Amino acid sequence: MSNHQDPATAVGYVDPPARKGFFTDTSVCIGCKACEVACKEWNAVPEDGMTLTGHSYDNSVGLGASTWRHVAFIEQPSEGKPPESPPNDDSAGAPAVGLGMPAMTRPGADTPAEERTPFRWLMESDVCKHCTHAACLDVCPTGALFRTEFGTVVVQDDICNGCGYCVPACPYGVIERREGPAGDDAVGLAQKCTLCYDRLKCDLEPACAKACPTQSIQFGDLDELRERADARVAALHGTGVADARLYGHDPDDGVGGTGAFFLLLDEPEVYGLPPDPVVTTRDLPQMWRGAALAAATLLAGAVAAFAGGARR
Ligand code: SF4
Ligand code: SF4
Repeated sequence: MSNHQDPATAVGYVDPPARKGFFTDTSVCIGCKACEVACKEWNAVPEDGMTLTGHSYDNSVGLGASTWRHVAFIEQPSEGKPPESPPNDDSAGAPAVGLGMPAMTRPGADTPAEERTPFRWLMESDVCKHCTHAACLDVCPTGALFRTEFGTVVVQDDICNGCGYCVPACPYGVIERREGPAGDDAVGLAQKCTLCYDRLKCDLEPACAKACPTQSIQFGDLDELRERADARVAALHGTGVADARLYGHDPDDGVGGTGAFFLLLDEPEVYGLPPDPVVTTRDLPQMWRGAALAAATLLAGAVAAFAGGARR
């Protein structure tokens, strides 16, 4: 398949709908995790730990069998001046109306400027990338992983045999076999985001995009999303956010571009994303050709030796 061919057409769908995907604009993510919760609720994904890690405000840590959407919190000391606190009043707008509610100040607003620590907090709602060239799909021996008519990649746990070949094949570390809780029907089986295939079939948007209150997660036709993303990057650059960049949108990258792509505010590595992902099955045809050539050479040698022995 060429990088620019629609993946649904490439696997034989005749006249499929437009390729669907996610554009996740991390510049407006507020880290509310509504997407994680909506995903769990719709897809009946079990809870995966309710305790804080002790080194982050993120409790779900990363994508996995029981976290199909994960909001990464990048909490780092930053360079430069401590941020100014905005004034803690509403003097810029209409006069406030007293409703008898308890008053409160914004976090940090009472800390003197010289005591503030320069700090930055990036958030990114991560998900399966629904790759154009999906290595997980290439290696699945049972057909449990398949390409849908929307161009997305779905795993069916009633066909998965739990062999786990797909797990190391994914260049993003997305797919995983579920380990628990005991009694869950999917324990031992490969799990990941389905881009809510059942909802797409009913003309509904995926649960995470529907729940996101800031439109950080946008769902739609991939071509239209790419145009929207280009315009958003240009707008951010215009307001001085020079580090804004897209990740996964390029059909000429190592996985042929992804069906879920991102607007980031720093290098992909800062978010724990591989900077140059490559489909891990890329060299398989060449390896099989090499193995076939080696086998043919061995066979020819054995036949020649046998024939030579027979003449003596
Ligand atoms: S991100 Fe990983 S699990 Fe998702 S489609 Fe790509 S290879 Fe498969
Ligand atoms: S629902 Fe939207 S704003 Fe909330 S964490 Fe998810 S992506 Fe961010």
